[in-house]
Amino acid sequence: MKIAIAGCGIAGAAAGYLLASQGHDITIFEQAAQCGPIGAGILIQPIGQTVLKSLGIFEDIDKKSARLNWIEARKHNGKRLIQLEYQRLGCDLYGLGVHRGLLFSALLSLARQAGAVIQENRRITGYQVLQSGVSLELESKEPTEVFDFIIATDGARSGLRNASGIKHRGAEYEYGALWTTGACNAVQDRLFQVVDGTKKLAGLLPIGNGECSFFWGLTAAQFMKFQQQGLDVWKKEVLQLCPQAEEIVAPIASFKDLTFTNYRNVSMRTFWADRILFLGDAAHPTSPHLGQGANLALEDVWTFSECLKKDPDFRSACIAYEKMRKNKIRYYQRITGWLTPFFQSEGVVKGWGRDLFLPVMSQTPMLREQMLKTLCGFKSGWLSSKIE
Ligand SMILES: Cc1cc2nc3c(=O)[nH]c(=O)nc-3n(C[C@H](O)[C@H](O)[C@H](O)COP(=O)(O)OP(=O)(O)OC[C@H]3O[C@@H](n4cnc5c(N)ncnc54)[C@H](O)[C@@H]3O)c2cc1C
Repeated sequence: MKIAIAGCGIAGAAAGYLLASQGHDITIFEQAAQCGPIGAGILIQPIGQTVLKSLGIFEDIDKKSARLNWIEARKHNGKRLIQLEYQRLGCDLYGLGVHRGLLFSALLSLARQAGAVIQENRRITGYQVLQSGVSLELESKEPTEVFDFIIATDGARSGLRNASGIKHRGAEYEYGALWTTGACNAVQDRLFQVVDGTKKLAGLLPIGNGECSFFWGLTAAQFMKFQQQGLDVWKKEVLQLCPQAEEIVAPIASFKDLTFTNYRNVSMRTFWADRILFLGDAAHPTSPHLGQGANLALEDVWTFSECLKKDPDFRSACIAYEKMRKNKIRYYQRITGWLTPFFQSEGVVKGWGRDLFLPVMSQTPMLREQMLKTLCGFKSGWLSSKIE
């Protein structure tokens, strides 16, 4: 089949590889002038690692990344809020702190080797269903070929989501994060976060090679205020809360060395319509508080490619895909949506509740097991889980 993939991120590149490997004729359209190894650190959970093993790129990525045995969150006064050790669930389990660029480059080169054609500098503005197939509308107004169907992997701000007419609801969070990546040896074997109420959040995610991804939670308005006050005011506040970030924060010379991203949470009634299927963040963007987005994106793509292998009819493959994925995606969307305001929001009550209940929950064996299964990406619904 002739398949168009809209957006060459983690999901798009992985889909390009898997579908081209099945013998389909793949064209990926990417808005960036050049697909490159950009981005922050991401936590690849055991479920995402399983997909990388199936793609044959796990060993190399594992070698170049950081193995994390646990995740930890502390309060500003040093008291522990949560500590979750992967090995309590399975002795060979761990999280993998990976530079997004490393993962993306590996997926991109697989897609290219498998014969996927990547068209850069092609911003998609919409699509049109024709009798003979479907075509994309580009910002440049150039016509595209006619495809059998589109895989929409154009990320959290997917324009195709609106164009599809599929009902969806969701919200743009006021909160987001400033992040950067650099040398930092203070934290090595865990994801480390410090919070003060729900308004201050700092984190260090080791990504291997003596480097960490550092993030600082804030709103766009707070970011503007810091820009007016100057970098030193921001650095002072950061180091007061998270002195472990000294090595990475000290060399920052300007706010331009940091990237601000805000989050959104969108829930689609269905992931597919006539000749179009949504995967990854395009289908279910969430805040990154649970560290699942890239993992879900990889699993989405793997599952759909298996469905299409079994039944090469697009509609049937979409029906099978949605049946397999819907409960899991809904579960992770709800949990992340529920968790986000306990870490980043206005007011004090949520912070108090979190500080009171989270330590108890993470020390109660039955609840801890559910939290670990959720973290690892093993939950397949509210009451079910599948340990890989
Ligand atoms: C600060 C931060 C930390 C995160 N940490 C984690 C983590 O620890 N673990 C985890 O699993 N996930 C994490 N995530 C989430 C993760 O990065 C995403 O879930 C993942 O990248 C989704 O992949 P995707 O391919 O669906 O979308 P993306 O990677 O966003 O790719 C979308 C692609 O589509 C392109 N595109 C968009 N619009 C158009 C258009 N109109 N025309 C053509 N191309 C277009 C974009 O340029 C991009 O290349 C984090 C996210 C952020 C912001």
